[in-house]
Parts: sequence; C-alpha cells; structure tokens
Amino acid sequence: MLAIILSSVALLIGLIALTIGVTTTRHIGLRDPVAVPHMWRKILRIKSRPSNELARSSDSPARRERIAFIANPTKDGVGELREISMRACSVRYMPEPLWYFTTADDPGKGQAQAAIDAGADVVVAVGGDGTVRAVAATLAGSGVKMGILPMGTGNLFARNVGLPLGDTPALMRTILEGEETAIDVVWLDVERAHRGHMERDRHICLVIAGAGFDAQMVAGTDDKLKRKLGWFAYFLSAFQHIGEKRMEASVSVDDSPAVTSQMRTVLVANVGSLPGGIRLIPDASVTDGSLDVATLDARAGVVGWTDLFGTVMAQGAGLKQPDALKAWRTSRIDHVRGKSVDIHMKHPQKVQVDGEPLGRATAIRAEVSPGALIMRVPVNEPKPKRSNKDGAADALDVAPADADAGDGAKGTEA
Ligand SMILES: [Mg+2]
Repeated sequence: MLAIILSSVALLIGLIALTIGVTTTRHIGLRDPVAVPHMWRKILRIKSRPSNELARSSDSPARRERIAFIANPTKDGVGELREISMRACSVRYMPEPLWYFTTADDPGKGQAQAAIDAGADVVVAVGGDGTVRAVAATLAGSGVKMGILPMGTGNLFARNVGLPLGDTPALMRTILEGEETAIDVVWLDVERAHRGHMERDRHICLVIAGAGFDAQMVAGTDDKLKRKLGWFAYFLSAFQHIGEKRMEASVSVDDSPAVTSQMRTVLVANVGSLPGGIRLIPDASVTDGSLDVATLDARAGVVGWTDLFGTVMAQGAGLKQPDALKAWRTSRIDHVRGKSVDIHMKHPQKVQVDGEPLGRATAIRAEVSPGALIMRVPVNEPKPKRSNKDGAADALDVAPADADAGDGAKGTEA
C-alpha cells in the first residue's frame, strides 16, 4: 500500500516537473530563436518568427559602401557566406566585399584594423562572441560602422541588439541596408597578482561581465552541452556550484563610498538579457549611456538558489515580487546604475566577460563608453512587402528589395 502511495507521489512530482520544464522551454524558445536546440524545437512544436518581416521596402536609398567581413574560418558555412556576400553586393552594384580571416594569435582586432586601413565603410564580424568582441574592440570609437553575422552558440550581443538570428538573408540585408544605432560599450580593467606584482589587462565588454558564481558557471559550461541543451546547460552548471562559499567584495559606483558585503556574484551589464531570454536586469539598455551593476546573493543552500532562480525567471516574465514577501526571502538582488564601477574582492575570484573566462582577479574597474559603436541593426517598422517576394526566404534570397527582376536574377543564381 505504502509503495503504491509513494510511487503515485513520485509520478505526480515527475509530471509537475515535466510540465514546468516543457512550459519554460517553450516560453524561452518563442522569445529566442537559438536558445533551444533544433531537435527540441521540433518535438515541442516551437515556431520561429516569420523571416520576411525584415524585408526592406523599395524606397531604400542605394548605398555604394565597401564592406569588409572578418570571419572565423573554423565555423561551418563560412565559404557559403562569402559567396552569398559577393552576390548580395554585386546585385546592389556595390564594390566587391573584402574578406579577412582570424587566426589563433589574432581573433579579429588586427584584421579589423586592416579593414579600416583598406577603406572599409562597414566591418562585419562573422563568428561567435569572441570574433564579435575582437572586431568591436577595434571599431569602438573609430566611427566605422559594424555589422554581425552571428555563427556561435551564444550570440549574446547579436541577440541583445535585435538581430534576426538564424535568418541569413535578413542578416545580410541588415548589414547592407540596415539602420544605424550608436551602442554603448563597457571597458573593463582587470587587476591580478602575478609573480609578486600587480598586472592589469583591458577587455571590451558588450554584454555582461561578472565575478564569482557567474564566472564559475560560465567557465563550467561546456560547449557541447550548450549546443545540445541550450539554456538548460547553464542551469545544470549552476547546480554543480550550489555548495560553494559566498564571496566578499566592496563595490563603488561612480566613485561613491564603497559598500562591502557578502554575495554569490557581482555583475556589470551593458545589456539585460542572458542566454535563453532570461532578463537579469529588466530595464538595462545598450543605448542609455550607463552600465548596470547587480550583486546577487543566495543563502540557505538549495532553497536560496531556487528562490534566486525563481526571482530571475519572474523578472524575465515581467513579474514583481510583493514587498511584504521580501523579509522571508533567502535570495537578494541589489542593483545600481552608473557610469563606472570599482570592485575589490577580498579573495581572488574567477572573472568572465561576455562568456569568456579571464581567470582569477582581485579587482575590476568598469567604465561605460556611451555610443562608441555604430551598429547596423534591422529597420524598425516593417514596411509593405514586395508582392513577388512573399515566398519563404531561402539562403540565396539576398537581393535588394529594389533590384529589378532582370538584374537581380543573374546575381542570385547559384
Ligand atoms: Mg546601459
């Protein structure tokens, strides 16, 4: 009898967990085209946004710019993208695009400088967050426009500026015909002890940097798992660090008196969205000229962590917790906005920037550089579509919306 009751309860708990898992995955999949792997999208019947909504109308002025692409040659499909870019520029009567390839020694900074020196008007990063950051580091403050053809698993930045991920024709149109927006970047100076003296190195941060649990989680999530499980991989990785000690750090925003406290992690954000459409800092923006600092704390073991995870998910869904409940909480998120922040950690902590582990450090200074990056972004308001282009876009559909049929056809033939 007891066995029957116990197995019924176990079955019920299993069903509830499955329902929550499916609902959350569907919710995330609808908001974010690449957070949920393709196989799971099929099984759970998650539909993507229609790709044609980003097509340009026929009144877009023709541009005659020189485009340069900086590509990570290890990513699949780079050769095909190169051909698509040639055709896309050719049918617009634009100069032939320049292509540069990253190396293990130079992930994109030098190539971006070479592209600027060669007279490029737009420099496009083709690859994952690593290539995007390297190219952005050179372009920030230069006045040369930046485009992105995202190819990695994370694509945190591309997602945060609203690029149509996974839709090559729409991405190519954005690069060639998109609008321009001045985007903030954050510069991070990371300080660590090395052989008895202090060392400082500088990194660009486009999305989010963090010390403590956040960095451990990023460092502990392996790429294979990320590809298979999407956002859930981060959650699994987080689970492995549940038993670890909290960190002590002092935080000073805009040179105000430092506040010292215990925490799980301290985050410096240029944007608010994390993988899977989770919003840590709901109203953070890449165009407000400010950076956001958040400290996250969780006490009481699994209870605190579950509470923290729930809070983050609820924020993402736009829910606010009632004040009356706050006293009972086992987790806490404190948030400040400013132009710069100084973080000093009592013990060296693991640090990450935009998902790249930087090793352990004792101090971080972060400063925002407002509007430093001129980004090509999709045109905001969807305009009337061309009647002869209403079919599903395929990978070769990169012709400008205003090309006349005769000229367009020869360029889009494979
Ligand atoms: Mg901001």
